[in-house]
Amino acid sequence: MRAYTYFGNGRLQLVDKPVPALRDGKDAIVRVTLASICTSDLHIKHGSVPRAVPGTTIGHEMVGVVEAVGDGVKNVQPGDRVAVNVETFCGECFFCEHGWVNNCLDPDGGWALGCRIDGGLAEYVRVPHADTGLSRIPDGVSDEQALFTGDILATGYWAAKISEIGPEDTVLIIGGGPTGICTLACVLLKNPGRVILCDRHPERLELVNRHYPGVLTTGPDGLEDFVLAHSAHGGADRVIECGGSDESFQLAWQCARPNAVVTVVALYDRAQTLPLPEMYGKNLIFKTGGVDGCDCGEILRLIAAGKIDTTPLITHRCALSGIEDAFELFEQRRDGVIKVAVDTAR
Ligand SMILES: [Zn+2]
Ligand SMILES: [Zn+2]
Repeated sequence: MRAYTYFGNGRLQLVDKPVPALRDGKDAIVRVTLASICTSDLHIKHGSVPRAVPGTTIGHEMVGVVEAVGDGVKNVQPGDRVAVNVETFCGECFFCEHGWVNNCLDPDGGWALGCRIDGGLAEYVRVPHADTGLSRIPDGVSDEQALFTGDILATGYWAAKISEIGPEDTVLIIGGGPTGICTLACVLLKNPGRVILCDRHPERLELVNRHYPGVLTTGPDGLEDFVLAHSAHGGADRVIECGGSDESFQLAWQCARPNAVVTVVALYDRAQTLPLPEMYGKNLIFKTGGVDGCDCGEILRLIAAGKIDTTPLITHRCALSGIEDAFELFEQRRDGVIKVAVDTAR
């Protein structure tokens, strides 16, 4: 089969590999039908994910059809259409029992697929812990509708959940890329008083204006004043930082009101610094990134009910045979690309 593989030192290539086989009773083999490229794949390429293992097939956003399951798999069977979770987790350790599946103690726990073990930018993928890592796609939900369930939508859902959003709150989302927009869709489910989305790119703000009416959009210049003018207590009650730049990290605490919750979702290419003397007395509550992707079943129910629709994020489509061009387009942010849907059968 064809598999888009990371070889270290910034090199990715579409190569031939054997179709994966079951290795453990809890494994499933999934025939991938649709996959996507994520900003985290760029981070792997550029060496900012030290755990990424050269030789690994990348890709951790995919849906497909179960081909085979091990003896110990109870929740899915061959023929089921499934969304694959970015995280594999045992469901039984201390961290899993608390819902902190990102920190699962299993050797394959956390973000392994497409990073430490072969992922889904390929025709087939082996998914360990299939009972927790696969969610059946409800009838009537298409592959495109379900595509982002296991990664960026799981991230947005988790970010909205841990941000403790109330009905009076002004929520500021920094970053209108794919994760920022998924976060926006999930924040809106909480019905906060006001939502502001900030991004430097006008085409992203246009997409938000078109699909999420009522959300205030703005660029980063003058953001602090903009937030002050649109919040009741001297800043945003909740800030969710999905931007991932030095600037967006600073804006996150600057735009927060005292005692706000600041949820940092972004993955940075370098260390960030908080100027604690300047922040002293603001008493902020920081929550930091690494999705706990344990709500995929609920996310799929919300998609089936028409409450979440992330299909507007799919701006480009390609075949697996064209992955190298598509990856370059995504990396260079050409042609207004937000997300690429990769047809892995072609
Ligand atoms: Zn991702
Ligand atoms: Zn666990």
